[in-house]
Amino acid sequence: MRKILFLLISGLLLIFAAPAGVKAVSPLEGKVIVVDPGHGGYDPGAVRAGILEKNINLQISLKLKGLLEGKGARVLLTRDGDYNLVIAGLHKKEAHRYDLGKRLDIAKQSGACLLVSIHANCTYSCSQQGAEVFYYPPSENGKILADSIQSELRSIPGMSKRIIKTSNSFILRNASIPAVLVEVGYLSSPGERKNLLRSEYQELVAQRISSGILNYLVSKE
Ligand SMILES: [Zn+2]
Repeated sequence: MRKILFLLISGLLLIFAAPAGVKAVSPLEGKVIVVDPGHGGYDPGAVRAGILEKNINLQISLKLKGLLEGKGARVLLTRDGDYNLVIAGLHKKEAHRYDLGKRLDIAKQSGACLLVSIHANCTYSCSQQGAEVFYYPPSENGKILADSIQSELRSIPGMSKRIIKTSNSFILRNASIPAVLVEVGYLSSPGERKNLLRSEYQELVAQRISSGILNYLVSKE
């Protein structure tokens, strides 16, 4: 009886154990992801105490790109420096729409599976704080992705426990793939502004966004 039991357990172990030497494949392997650092160039985004949103967005986006690529993804940035995609002759709303349209084209032409736009928030009140993730309501997968990233961001020590929000923003509304906009924190909060300028904190935020993306892709497998 003991022998039969031993053979049975050995058999089960052989069936369920991963073959030796075979590396587990990351759910990000071969996936194309577009990371969009909001604003750039003449458009600084929010400005508070001399800090420009566009710079924070780019710094976190570059860190996020590194983390996702480390897990096997191919990451396209809509900008990798201090510029935007507007052409000469366009102004104000028309220029802004053109810029966002070009960013969306990058996602469309690359066959990306999702788009994450990185921004930082600002308001008149100094007390508002916390990262929050936005999605466009008709997109069910956008909502799942937003939830996945938000729950990771909530676990940052000291982070305000915010919940996902809906947005009708141009980039989310016109994305043909699951898309979210992450407001990484409030530049109007002195404490959060200080954090967002620190490279270690930016890395932490990027790590949590990356984990949220990974968890989303695992749930979709
Ligand atoms: Zn912004």
